[in-house]
Amino acid sequence: MQTQFIYNSLTNKKEVFKSLKDGYVGMYVCGPTVYSNVHLGNVRTFMSFDMIYRYFLHLGYKVRYVRNITDAGHLTDDDAEDKISTKARLEQLEPMEIVQKYTVDFHQILQKFNFLPPSIEPTATGHILEQIQAIETILKNGLAYEVNGSVYFDVLKYNETENYGILSKRKIEDAIENTRVLDGQSDKKNSQDFALWKKALPEHIQRWDSPWGVGFPGWHLECTVMSTKYLGEEFDIHGGGMDLKFPHHECEIAQAQACNHVAPVKYWMHGNMLTMNGKKMSKSTGNNILPEEIFSGDNKNISKGYTASVARFFMMQAHYRSVLDFSDDAIFAAEKGFNRLMEAINLLDKLEVSTSSTFDVKAWKQKCYDAMNDDFNTPVLIANLFEAVKIINLINDNKVTLTVEDFKEFKTTVNVFVYDILALENTSTNNNNSDKLSGVVAILIALRKQARENKDWALSDQIRDELIALGIQLKDGKEGTTFSVN
Ligand code: AMP
Ligand code: ZN
Repeated sequence: MQTQFIYNSLTNKKEVFKSLKDGYVGMYVCGPTVYSNVHLGNVRTFMSFDMIYRYFLHLGYKVRYVRNITDAGHLTDDDAEDKISTKARLEQLEPMEIVQKYTVDFHQILQKFNFLPPSIEPTATGHILEQIQAIETILKNGLAYEVNGSVYFDVLKYNETENYGILSKRKIEDAIENTRVLDGQSDKKNSQDFALWKKALPEHIQRWDSPWGVGFPGWHLECTVMSTKYLGEEFDIHGGGMDLKFPHHECEIAQAQACNHVAPVKYWMHGNMLTMNGKKMSKSTGNNILPEEIFSGDNKNISKGYTASVARFFMMQAHYRSVLDFSDDAIFAAEKGFNRLMEAINLLDKLEVSTSSTFDVKAWKQKCYDAMNDDFNTPVLIANLFEAVKIINLINDNKVTLTVEDFKEFKTTVNVFVYDILALENTSTNNNNSDKLSGVVAILIALRKQARENKDWALSDQIRDELIALGIQLKDGKEGTTFSVN
């Protein structure tokens, strides 16, 4: 096995990766809260862990990858109502209809981006019993208290023997200052305490019986319960976006420690944010772009549509721990790079081998592994793949030669990294068909233009609508009409 380095957010250092059990990796990643469509920022974090999952699989590990669905329990700050209930009320649907709608959307979107499904995808509502049991254990261990039908984690008490702040490096005094006013806070002994169980107000829709009355679980508990249930009290990797480090992951550590007297996670991994116009993409501020908008080009921040593979390539060009700013220029440039890579790969099958090699395939291959072993450095991997593009073109020009064996190894390595690990899809292999499609749509665009000049609005609308029905979207811009295929 290759020596692998992983940046551990717990120690803020790159560490040699050694799994708890030889040959096995247990990885938990916080999943989406299914009350609205995922935006491209969410997709980025899940994609980083998909790439990480794929690399472990490639290295031969047996991986149990658990990614949950949060379908209950996320409190909004000010009204102490979870987001799913709020949305259910707004759309006049059952909370479980909201959950179903956005879970399906989440799966469909990830499929378009060529994600591997996790090994287990547990839901918060499917683990209410386990959450109640965990609260009972924490109460028994003296680290929680009940007030008026709610149960809170006693952060100060916990901090007497453990370190609340071990992950986020926050001091407890800062936590006091930064704690925002939550409904029912007056019930708490101290403002930094967090809810394990909340009493349900009469209008709260998602509610369960518990030893403390009717209520619902707190924000952080589901992940503690589901990760340790499926991966054990101690497991290898816990991931999520950087914004979850505090309070969510800090609280997860405290809860698990309070239940099991052991630190739950060996390597904490945090993906960085996707921004747009320099600001974090986010559901609540509206500063986001949806995957469907990327595909169709129907968003004011982009000039045209892009395929899922181009979007994936765009994201993989940045290291998962770096902030990545989304812009039309940046993804447009990524598309050019992606096409160059795919054109070279298409050439691979047409190349001729020789009796000697003038390029060191083994050294190049090792550089690809070195990049991935250095905390999953996909931008460096992609730079190495562009070196391969150069070599492919030189072989094609008879300026570099490879023996049969070397060529085989070279081609396999390119394919492994491009298809299995970066999970790109070669959309340009059916170049011929897409050229024909472009030609046909160009004819229809010209006919529509003529119809509009003749003020034949019925015909121009008919052309547009029938194309939409086929999943082809026309977009009128300053430079004329373009199209995208969903
Ligand atoms: P949520 O559904 O809000 O819990 O978010 C699901 C995941 O997406 C979490 O791991 C977040 O950290 C992550 N996330 C949210 N916004 C962004 C963003 N702008 N860039 C990258 N990841 C994000
Ligand atoms: Zn979580």
